[in-house]
Amino acid sequence: MDSTHYEICIVGAGIVGLSTAYFLAKSGLKVVVLDKDSIGSHASGFAYGGLSPLGEAGDPETILPVFDLAQLGMKKHLEFSSDIPELSGIDYDFRFRPAIDLVFNDEELTEAKQQIKWRQQVENYKVEFIDRKSALEIVPNLNNEIIGATYTEGVCDVEPYKLVLALTQSCEKLGVEILNKEITGIQIENHLATSASTKHEKIYFEKLVLCMGPWSGNISNWLGVNVPIRPLKGQILRLKSESVQLNASVGYLHNYAVTKPDGLIWAGTTEEDIGFEDSPTPYGRNSVLGSLTHMIQGLDEAELVYQTACLRPLSKDGKVILGPAPQTENVFLGTGAGRKGILLGPGIAKITADLVMNKQPEIDISAFSVARFS
Ligand SMILES: Cc1cc2nc3c(=O)[nH]c(=O)nc-3n(C[C@H](O)[C@H](O)[C@H](O)COP(=O)(O)OP(=O)(O)OC[C@H]3O[C@@H](n4cnc5c(N)ncnc54)[C@H](O)[C@@H]3O)c2cc1C
Repeated sequence: MDSTHYEICIVGAGIVGLSTAYFLAKSGLKVVVLDKDSIGSHASGFAYGGLSPLGEAGDPETILPVFDLAQLGMKKHLEFSSDIPELSGIDYDFRFRPAIDLVFNDEELTEAKQQIKWRQQVENYKVEFIDRKSALEIVPNLNNEIIGATYTEGVCDVEPYKLVLALTQSCEKLGVEILNKEITGIQIENHLATSASTKHEKIYFEKLVLCMGPWSGNISNWLGVNVPIRPLKGQILRLKSESVQLNASVGYLHNYAVTKPDGLIWAGTTEEDIGFEDSPTPYGRNSVLGSLTHMIQGLDEAELVYQTACLRPLSKDGKVILGPAPQTENVFLGTGAGRKGILLGPGIAKITADLVMNKQPEIDISAFSVARFS
């Protein structure tokens, strides 16, 4: 094979694409990963980095369909945490730390208790309701108007940007080529994709994996299959505080905050359905500061040191799109992980790598087929 002919071509070097490349290269395949932008410059590099298969606030019905995938994602993250730092030489701050989800009133208490019931059935986690006093003992700066909190052990976090760099290094050490190129189209002959075009060249492959995050809607034009993915913008603040230390990830509704190993409080987030605009804005800053100061007291002296914004890939029904592309036998899709892509990414990748290598995936993926939109 020449330098522009690969066994596997992966488009998108986010967590899904890089993890897929990692699994395939570990099995000895010749892989190229193409990305239009710098490594880690989108959501995979600028997420909060929480790994919690038990979900944030929400009801079991919306969480459970992806629960197996979330568990697989967590399993792969645990394997990554022992393999990737050594292979890459990059410590990406993987750590276990508890989560505390705040409860302010009786309605939220009823909801929390329902959540706790099913979460307590899941192995490897400790989940319980704790009263206000116990919650304040764990995180003294919590809003003291809470009536209690859900306390969870067994959940983790990572520094996403460092994780993406570590995956990149690991892939390259396993022989993966990672190239800065934008794919603008795919050539198909007799139901098989044969090459992908950039502005100046064609890249030939045996199999193609498309992990293009919020840009995955472009696949619809290339393959003639409806891939309804849109961007959902989110913003995060990093603050320096001498007096407040959050040694658990504090959550309320869709917001969260924790002190990361870099010593900064990371706090998010927004959900902005406004297209491909991804700059940090005053709206994002005020919105996140508002939710943060509702959860945590004593931040008056905190200094804002960094504000980031990025785009989640969100499918029309909110669920992942994963599996072979209908009618194009050698093309595989992995996208739509929304708010949970750092957690789900390695799980989506493991399944994709198995499919590419004609192996049976570890879990049932029929609910994730893109054919549900046709
Ligand atoms: C504020 C915020 C906080 C988050 N926090 C968490 C969290 O705590 N836990 C969690 O699990 N998830 C979290 N997420 C979600 C998570 O970040 C995303 O779901 C995940 O990063 C998506 O990964 P991806 O690989 O699918 O896409 P991306 O990271 O977007 O990667 C896709 C890549 O494809 C490339 N690409 C697209 N089109 C082309 C093309 N035509 N040619 C070449 N390259 C192309 C892009 O340049 C991009 O690099 C958060 C997201 C946001 C916005």
